Amino acid sequence: MIMRGATAAVIETYYIIACAGAALFGAVVGSFLNVCIYRVPLRESIVTPRSFCPSCRKTIPLYDNIPILSYLLLRGACRSCGSRISPVYPVIEVATALISLLLFHKYGLSWKYGISFIFVSALLVVTVIDIRYQIIPDAISIPGIPLAVLASAAVMGRPWLDALLGALIGGGLLFLVAAGYWLFTRREGMGGGDIKLLAMIGGFFGWQSLFFIVLASSVAGALVGLAIILMKKGSLKYAVPFGPFLSLAAFLNFFVGDVFERLLFFHQGNPW
Ligand SMILES: [Zn+2]
Repeated sequence: MIMRGATAAVIETYYIIACAGAALFGAVVGSFLNVCIYRVPLRESIVTPRSFCPSCRKTIPLYDNIPILSYLLLRGACRSCGSRISPVYPVIEVATALISLLLFHKYGLSWKYGISFIFVSALLVVTVIDIRYQIIPDAISIPGIPLAVLASAAVMGRPWLDALLGALIGGGLLFLVAAGYWLFTRREGMGGGDIKLLAMIGGFFGWQSLFFIVLASSVAGALVGLAIILMKKGSLKYAVPFGPFLSLAAFLNFFVGDVFERLLFFHQGNPW
């Protein structure tokens, strides 16, 4: 019995170290996502040149480019020109670390973890760019649709048809919403970017996931929109981008989607 307890303790220690590794890996990837968030909307290369200060354009030395830590050590200012570094950078790095940790906890060290992490990383980049510029870059969403369908069937183990229908119905659904809105108001409500994004998300999770993703993103979007109207005490002057809510709902779907689908489709047995 003592032996078994000791083995369990060793396994637990290894698991904690692996989780720390996953979080650390996430923070490093987050640092790269910051580069993507900054450069993709400007149509600049995400590979070269190396990271530089947006203020003085000086290349950031590697020792000042450590995720999260460098921001704290430099107290949020560039070493060479002293201009303020946006706190968005370390926030993205912490968020990516958490995403990696949670997905590792769910899938362990596997292809499913790797592919899911890439998928959510793309969603995080989309979210920040959509908040900042009110656009979802085609550079991510267009190749993202076939890649999501491929990943869904080849790695995540979903039937090809489910993934394909997910992309078609996801995109089609928002296309109809956009067309309807335009017919009634002659204004563009839902952007083409949202249509492509939901096609990508539906492709990744399969058509069954769309019930939860559409419901959760609409509820979250409506609540935040309402809060903004109340705070500004007036009409919604600028539209709230929908991409962040679709992305958030997609991330949540990893953890509650199964339960929701089992309840929805009246599967046998205890859904929990
Ligand atoms: Zn600088």
